[in-house]
Amino acid sequence: MKQSDQSVSGKTHQTDWKAVRDEFPALHQQVNGYPLAYFDHAATAQKPRKVIDAMTRYYEFDNANVHRGVHSLSQRATLAYEEARQKTARFICAKDPSEIIFTSGTTASVNVVALSWGRAHLKPGDEVLVTGLEHHANLVPWQMACAMTGAQLKIVPVNEFGEVSTDSVAEMLHSKTRIFAFSWISNALGTINPAHDWVQLAREKGITTLIDAAQVAAHHPIDVQHLGVDFLCFSAHKMMGPTGLGVLYGKKSILETLDPVFGGGDMIDEVTYEKSTWADLPYRLEAGTPNIAGVIGLSAAIDFLESIGWQNISRRESELLQYALEKLSEIPQIRFIGSPKERAGVISFVVDGVHPYDLGILLDEQGIALRTGHHCAQPLMRHFGITGTCRVSLAIYNTFEEIDQLDRAIKRALRLLGISQSN
Ligand code: PMP
Repeated sequence: MKQSDQSVSGKTHQTDWKAVRDEFPALHQQVNGYPLAYFDHAATAQKPRKVIDAMTRYYEFDNANVHRGVHSLSQRATLAYEEARQKTARFICAKDPSEIIFTSGTTASVNVVALSWGRAHLKPGDEVLVTGLEHHANLVPWQMACAMTGAQLKIVPVNEFGEVSTDSVAEMLHSKTRIFAFSWISNALGTINPAHDWVQLAREKGITTLIDAAQVAAHHPIDVQHLGVDFLCFSAHKMMGPTGLGVLYGKKSILETLDPVFGGGDMIDEVTYEKSTWADLPYRLEAGTPNIAGVIGLSAAIDFLESIGWQNISRRESELLQYALEKLSEIPQIRFIGSPKERAGVISFVVDGVHPYDLGILLDEQGIALRTGHHCAQPLMRHFGITGTCRVSLAIYNTFEEIDQLDRAIKRALRLLGISQSN
């Protein structure tokens, strides 16, 4: 075991990582007779007790619909919901809470922009630019928008390290480009893109920008004003909040021009049998009863992350990443997919001749939860000539002991598969 596990879980960095880990009930269980080692944070993060309790409290005491009742429960629910919107605005440094639209997730957020903004702004001859690293959530909606409007989808290529060069981005942003939509951190390879630089390049040419920040929100502070980005999307469940809740940030001046994608309750100003007029932002883009408990859970997740602090989070994650890379590099059968210079706590690898699912099952038998498959990035997998990978994704609640457990489990799986491993 790495010595510094003790020092890190002690007070060296003023964060008691053992105490942090103890806040996550799901981590304290055995799977197939082994302690669970959860390395699937990039798919969905585990939830701290404070998030679970905040949502339970809402259901137990305040459960009521928002914006609709004069009774006390409805007022309490509305207050909690709108306070969460303000907190989320502050969390990403938005100018105004009305720039925060609650959706069901990153996927829904991108779809709202692709459908609503796309319909209004794209026409034949226009181009939509994305990168070759995108999750399907930031690719398929643009394919649909292009099919609907006659615009063309262009892809900035990925190099052999799993990076997208800024020179290629600059070259492909030109007079026909209407929007540049890109992921800040790749969920499949962990590549960190220079989001600020790319937004600036697009802005210089008057091109609208969207950042898929699904993999960023739990790991790195977000300042939408500093970025200068027009739209930014993320999901609560990847930042230790609940599933089924996401955020669409948009600059107010742009959101005001968007027509609603969904019609129904809460998004109207006035309705007659013949026609309707729309409410002001943000309600215009939030049709129907929202995920109130989810929003309250997101608020608690923000408090949780902020109580730990970005510097501590970043230091912890990079120590875990370095250790995991060192350990896995010592296993000769492992071939890493992507080796980006700027990388978050994600490691994708294959063992040639072994299907990722088979390895995943053998690891699960030893308590290891990691993701296997194409990671909703099929074109990227095809680019590397593979159908999928095993993906280790790390979070602050992981430990160095768990990485040792992973190392042992991979070696044992390789032995069981008849792929000899001397040490
Ligand atoms: N983009 C990225 C980079 C992601 O990692 C994910 C989730 N894996 C998504 C978008 C989609 O998020 P959700 O499923 O929460 O809508």
